[in-house]
Parts: sequence; C-alpha cells; structure tokens
Amino acid sequence: VFPSYYKGLPAGAYWLMGAAGAVGLFFSIVFHELCHSVVAKRFGIPMRGITLFIFGGVAEMEDEPTSPKAEFMMAIAGPVSSVVLGLGFLVLAMAGRFWAWSSMAVGVFSYLGFINLLLAGFNLLPAFPLDGGRVLRALLWGWKRNLRWSTDIASKVGSAFGVGLIVLGVVELLLGNFLGGFWWALIGLFLRGAAHTSYQQVRVREMLEGEKVRKFMNTEPVTVSPWLTVEDLVEKYVYTTHHKLYPVVDGGSLVGCVTLDQVKHIPHVERERRRVGDLARECSAAESAVDPDEDALKALARMRRNGTSRLMVVKNDALVGIVTLKDLMRFLSLKIDLED
Ligand SMILES: [Zn+2]
Repeated sequence: VFPSYYKGLPAGAYWLMGAAGAVGLFFSIVFHELCHSVVAKRFGIPMRGITLFIFGGVAEMEDEPTSPKAEFMMAIAGPVSSVVLGLGFLVLAMAGRFWAWSSMAVGVFSYLGFINLLLAGFNLLPAFPLDGGRVLRALLWGWKRNLRWSTDIASKVGSAFGVGLIVLGVVELLLGNFLGGFWWALIGLFLRGAAHTSYQQVRVREMLEGEKVRKFMNTEPVTVSPWLTVEDLVEKYVYTTHHKLYPVVDGGSLVGCVTLDQVKHIPHVERERRRVGDLARECSAAESAVDPDEDALKALARMRRNGTSRLMVVKNDALVGIVTLKDLMRFLSLKIDLED
C-alpha cells in the first residue's frame, strides 16, 4: 500500500511503515475487542478472554447476554470504538499534513484511520455472528422477545452474506485477482460456518437449559485402585474400557483421578513399577469434577474449555458418578429428533 501512495521514499522507510501499520492494526483490533469485553462485564457477563486469529478477533463470553439491551450495547461497543479510533487517526494524519510531519508518520496514521473505519463498517454488516448481526438479533429479540427465532433469522442473514462473499471471491478469482478473490471466499466460508455454529450453540443452550448433571451421569463408573501399577492400568482398563480419565478410589473414598495424558508421559520401562496412586492428582472441582446439581450446560462448557470429554461427579468429596460428552450428545440428538 505505502509505496503506491507515498512515492519516492527509501525502501527501508516502507518496511518501517509496514511494520508500524501492522502493529497499529493489531492494537486497533485488541482495542475493539477490549471495548466489547468492558461493556459485557458492565452487564454482568463474565469474559473468558480475547482471541486474535487470522480473520480478526473474538471477545469470548462465558455466558450469552441476558437481555436484548445487554446484547445490543455489547455488540455496538466494538464498531463505535473502531469509529472513534479511526477518526482519531485521521485527525492525527491531517494534523501531520498541516504541520508537515514526515510523510512516514502521515502515511501510517492515514492507513490506521482508514483501516479502523473499514473494520467498523465490515463488522456492522448485519451478518450474525458479526457485531452488526448481533445488533440485528438484539433488535429482533427486543421486538418479539424470542431469542431462538431472532437467532434463526440473524444467522440466516449471516449465512447469506457468507454465500455472497464466496460468490464475490469466485468472481474476483475468475477476473484474475487471485489473492483478493481467495481472501473473500475464505472470509465467506468462515462467516457461513460461524453463523451455523452460533445458531447450534443457541439451540444446545435452549435444550440443556435447566437440566442437571445428575440426569446424565453414569452412577457406576469404572474406578481404579491407587495400588494398581500403571502397566495394569493400561492393559486392564485403558485398552478394555477406552476411557481418558479414571477416578482413583481407595476403600470407597475418592483419592483423585488419573488421565491418559499423565500415563503418556511415563516411559514404558517405568510403567511396571509405578503405581496409579503416585499419579493420582487431586481432581479439582474447577477442572475435572462437577456437582450433580450443577447445570449440564456448565458441565458442557467446562469440557469444552478443558478439552476433555468426561468429568467426575463429586458430592461432599465422594464420587457419585461420571458424566461424558457422549451422553450429553446422545440426549441432544434424541431431543432434536423428537422436537424438530
Ligand atoms: Zn466486534
């Protein structure tokens, strides 16, 4: 970009401007997501973090917004912050031109001003789960008071925009603009996928709402003794029952749990003399265990966050069962089958 707009600078200057522009863009996106997060927190939605990836950034909420107003304010905060930032950079660029600052600084400021306005504009497309799509959902939700219907409409619009971008990308490709075309098609595919996933998440929430872990747990889980050798654990349990986590129980009381990941790190030669009890770590409630009266939705979120597929169900420090991703999924698929 810079060599075509600011001619006659040395090559080093362009590299420096490129680097400054990239760093500026990075902070612009962080700022945008941070503004989403701050507003979300103000409305009492806990935030898990901000993830940046090739298509931009996502402020990850632990929970969905509780009201149309919360969703609207949270969604609009990002584009508003980008507009403010963009105008700020454009004012800096104008000041730079007026006082004849170096054209390197003016170039980077203009670029960042433009890119922030573009960021705001793109995010305001009413394509769920982009910010504009969330705004659309909040408006529909406030109007009809039906979250599922609103999500359905907003994600269909999101999907349609995704298809539109894919078509645009293909046309560009055919016209010979390979990089641009490929990029648009990729963003379109991503948007379509995200719209679909977001809709499914809302459906899952709806179906698991109010269901307790107790309902899904297996009350007779496979447990192991702390005196078992790691070798026997692998041969007699892992290879026959295929679980990734085993509660370690000694005389009826829960000692902790042992996972496949831990076993993996024990060299083969040591497996015959090491005991499961040495490996059993305390399986904390925040990580590998849930209360039977916890919401199934919370259990699902925890599995997703930890990348595990099973949790121990523990009441008063005693093991009462195990809940697995497979059981939750089976319930969901039956419910979809019977209700849709
Ligand atoms: Zn945003």
